[in-house]
Amino acid sequence: MKKIISLFLLTLFFTSCSGQNSSTKKTPLDEQIYINNITQLALKTHLTIVASDEMEGRDTGSPGQKKAGRYLIDQYQKAGIPFPKGATSYYQDIPAEFLNAQYNENLGDSENIWAFIEGSEKPEEIVVVSAHYDHVGIKKGEVYNGADDDGSGTVALVEIAKAFQKAKNEGHGPKRSILIMHMTGEEHGLHGSRYYSENPLFPLKNTVADVNIDMIGRRDEFHADSNNYIYLIGSDYLSTDLYNICEAANKKYINLTIDYKYNDRADKNRFYYRSDHYNFAKNGIPSVFLFNGTHADYHKATDEVEKIEFDALTKRTQLAFTIAWEIANRENRLVVDKDGN
Ligand SMILES: [Zn+2]
Repeated sequence: MKKIISLFLLTLFFTSCSGQNSSTKKTPLDEQIYINNITQLALKTHLTIVASDEMEGRDTGSPGQKKAGRYLIDQYQKAGIPFPKGATSYYQDIPAEFLNAQYNENLGDSENIWAFIEGSEKPEEIVVVSAHYDHVGIKKGEVYNGADDDGSGTVALVEIAKAFQKAKNEGHGPKRSILIMHMTGEEHGLHGSRYYSENPLFPLKNTVADVNIDMIGRRDEFHADSNNYIYLIGSDYLSTDLYNICEAANKKYINLTIDYKYNDRADKNRFYYRSDHYNFAKNGIPSVFLFNGTHADYHKATDEVEKIEFDALTKRTQLAFTIAWEIANRENRLVVDKDGN
């Protein structure tokens, strides 16, 4: 009897151990699994909805934008990704007075949307991954769907968040916290990111980096023969570490051609100042902007889903993920060794 009990207990012991192994304990880390979790199909499914006429061009404060926002929140809830600790919902509410303060465009109240993957080792250190989800609405009866600008970045964020959450569920959560931010009011003057920088949920001094995505689903005239490229802007302005991480992550996992044409401070387009990362960078937070350049449909009603190159969108989304992954998981916080000028 005793022996049988022992065997019974032993069996129970091993069963519970192996049970733990398969569900909550760490499996060997293979980042490629999470990179591969970001698929063309998922991005296309989201973008077909986010950049449809139903969202009415997602103008800041409009019913169409709010509808797009609810779609995004649905995706986070379905994937079990919470809103950030310390927040009361997926929304950071921004009053109309703030949006109209610099220049009155009669914008209604609007919202940044956020989601959060809490870090396992240094949860107080925050890596922001951002993209704006507003666009320019309806003009003269035509819906400006903004599939590339910035539907592409919007759906990239959803899949990046899901890849981090999957890793966390499998015991490989990021060491630092990931704050996913869908910014509003970008097209009217980077309002959403400016609001966040003035009303941050987490102290800016604990904000390690911003990886910002704005237009990654198309190609420009300088890359007519291949979409296998990305412009990176600002990666070396504040932190040599950030520049090195972007280069290494791309070489190791993705192999896009990184084009630094617009990283030139003398470039007359001044793209560095024209998307949401700037409101982090101006506060000394290392920031990198992923961008495919402009094209004939830029800010036109013809910026449609049918023109998106989903193979390129997928690889660029994967690159943004691997950059954020490295920043979040590396031993040391990025060093700020430059002044940004
Ligand atoms: Zn944009």
